[in-house]
Amino acid sequence: MSQEQYRKALRHERKREKLPRRRTCAFCGETDIRALQASDGAVLCADCRLALSGRSPFERHHPAGKRNDPFTVKMPANEHGIFNDMQNDWPPRTLMNPKRSPLLRQAGSHRAALDTLLRQVEIQREWATLKEDLEEFCRLKIGEDWCREFEMFRKEKQG
Ligand SMILES: [Zn+2]
Repeated sequence: MSQEQYRKALRHERKREKLPRRRTCAFCGETDIRALQASDGAVLCADCRLALSGRSPFERHHPAGKRNDPFTVKMPANEHGIFNDMQNDWPPRTLMNPKRSPLLRQAGSHRAALDTLLRQVEIQREWATLKEDLEEFCRLKIGEDWCREFEMFRKEKQG
């Protein structure tokens, strides 16, 4: 485990310890620790917490870090929590850029692009696993020829 992975695991474990025992969103079932928050003794994801309080579930994120670039993108609050968490893995000097270094500003832009790619890797991995699990479920519940039966079902449905 790299030092970055260790710090991330430690950060997530500390956040889990602050949450009540149930560590999924009480409203939608979200499980990503980066999106979860304690809310009046319950656990809610950021999207649900905002929606339940009547506010927009969208927030503005500074991809390159607020001190590097005022540019923001609008994204769901859960994704904002995930991207903010990813910025915690940046070298602190790049994120804070105390002397407004143009090189660190550029480093922030590179790290923003990297975080976008890393998030895409996570999402593609989650979708691949979901499709593999769904295929196994269909094979076990319907049979080895489940996809042929599904095609026949679709043809009948289309008329
Ligand atoms: Zn939720």
